Amino acid sequence: MSKIENENHKEFNQKTFTDDTDFEDKSIFCIDCGRDFVWTIGEQIFFRDKGLKNPPKRCKECKQAKNERLALIAAAQAEGIKQRIEVAVYCAKCSAYTTVPFYPSQGRPVYCRSCFLAMNPNLTENGK
Ligand SMILES: [Zn+2]
Ligand SMILES: [Zn+2]
Repeated sequence: MSKIENENHKEFNQKTFTDDTDFEDKSIFCIDCGRDFVWTIGEQIFFRDKGLKNPPKRCKECKQAKNERLALIAAAQAEGIKQRIEVAVYCAKCSAYTTVPFYPSQGRPVYCRSCFLAMNPNLTENGK
């Protein structure tokens, strides 16, 4: 009995060990500055341990810049100041460079104002 348990345990340990060696540095395209950055093995393991499924979309600098923007917004909101946020994106339809007043959620397409209105004619007819 105990011999089988030991062997199972051993196998489990070996499996997790091989999983870790499967990682290798990956090059990722930063969606903010458009430069490639390295997603290191250590960071990949950190992501896996955190249960995060999506790889990072921003390089360290852009991630930090985003965190700083978010911190500024949070601070402004705490003080009751209304702050307009602007996030640079490329329109998913016409590829125009535009800014949106919100942080787009991962995997959702973002459109420039004219494409957005073109797809939501009700907003222009009934709006204001
Ligand atoms: Zn970047
Ligand atoms: Zn567009």
